[in-house]
Amino acid sequence: MLRNDQLEQWDRDNFFHPSTHLAEFARGELAQRVITGGTGCHIEDRDGNRMLDAFAGLYCVNVGYGRQDIAEAMAEQAKELAYYHAYVGHGTEASITLAKMILDRAPGHMSKVYFGLSGSDANETNIKLIWYYNNILGRPEKKKIISRWRGYHGSGLMTGSLTGLELFHKKFDLPLSQVIHTEAPYYFRRADLGQSEAQFVAHCVAELEALIAREGADTIAAFIGEPVLGTGGIVPPPEGYWAAIQEVLERHDILLVADEVVTGFGRLGTMFGSEHYGLKPDLITIAKGLTSAYAPLSGSIVSEKMWSVLEQGTDENGPIGHGWTYSAHPVGAAAGVANLKLLDELNLIQNAGEVGAYLNTQMGAALEAHPHVGEVRGEGMLCAVEFVKDKESRSFFDAGDKVGPRIAAALAGEGVIARAMPQGDILGFAPPFCLSREEADEVVAKTAKAVTAVLG
Ligand code: PMP
Repeated sequence: MLRNDQLEQWDRDNFFHPSTHLAEFARGELAQRVITGGTGCHIEDRDGNRMLDAFAGLYCVNVGYGRQDIAEAMAEQAKELAYYHAYVGHGTEASITLAKMILDRAPGHMSKVYFGLSGSDANETNIKLIWYYNNILGRPEKKKIISRWRGYHGSGLMTGSLTGLELFHKKFDLPLSQVIHTEAPYYFRRADLGQSEAQFVAHCVAELEALIAREGADTIAAFIGEPVLGTGGIVPPPEGYWAAIQEVLERHDILLVADEVVTGFGRLGTMFGSEHYGLKPDLITIAKGLTSAYAPLSGSIVSEKMWSVLEQGTDENGPIGHGWTYSAHPVGAAAGVANLKLLDELNLIQNAGEVGAYLNTQMGAALEAHPHVGEVRGEGMLCAVEFVKDKESRSFFDAGDKVGPRIAAALAGEGVIARAMPQGDILGFAPPFCLSREEADEVVAKTAKAVTAVLG
């Protein structure tokens, strides 16, 4: 085994880490953490530290670490047939079975699954399918995509544009011109409007209507949103938001993409967030929870309404000019099949709903009274604590104070991993679905301790 100092040197010399402050890393100001193993909700690093991972990696290891059933299914597939492509009608038993299993679980009006590798590429696929669809229907002007500020949809060129976080645009010449952003359904952050929750929903709808009127409905193809805002702050929508938004979209013939990369396959305690909030999407983006990140695999679930047009398009234009070498990779598909079976066998979605509700209740009880805790919110196995400088005026700390990252670091010191969300002082929790009530208690107690250590 390599010595730790050797590995750290190689890491600094060679490894371009994603979503990392490159200069701080190079200067040795960021902890270098080499993760070596994991079981259930825990991971271990090379120095022998054992941590409770209350963010399930990047809210993706939904069934928990160390699931041998999935590892064995992947190994068997790799030994039998590690790869064959899915072009021109090819497939494997694993990829065909997985597509069937996904459709069996998806809302009834969905029709087919296109497989990719990441949430980002699945959303790139979605936008291409939407443009193709409108071209086939003879409306080449109807192309713009509406996304929400604080939405997260990936970090490619189109998907980084859809993502409504400044960090993903600044100095990258994004967003692309086809993308327009509208108000985030983030009631807590809009105290300045002095509105009730119902009034705020009406405000979001009015903003959307105004944007559509300004741009022209005949130029707008689709609206993309996560059922619950994720990376933008873990923000469940206010009551009635989705019903009101969908009514506007239907009236203007604007497609809806439900980005369920985080919420798909059980994180809200229901199979899909669309089911949870009564969405009727034309496309659903899936990734993370599809394989619980045991292998990189994503998908675009396409509705029958869109599928029938796409099919017609290929009669006119030949095979669809879209595909990745690794689409429907057999090892990923085998991981997906084993993962979805495990979710059922261990009743993990029900556990996510029940223990998630418990985690949220306990977190609220422990922290809501703290003078610097503005809000504790969540849904299913998603929870967030948002910090404020002043509760009365709902003012926020300066980003430079790094309150969120400091609390996350203090919590890591206690052996619990939460995520300092990228915009605002928000501590995010998205544990594996196998979290027990005792583990939830530990997360809450240690979070309260870390908050007190940093904010008093
Ligand atoms: N959509 C959502 C809702 C996400 O949360 C993410 C990743 N956090 C993505 C898309 C992008 O997925 P990936 O990082 O796999 O490209």
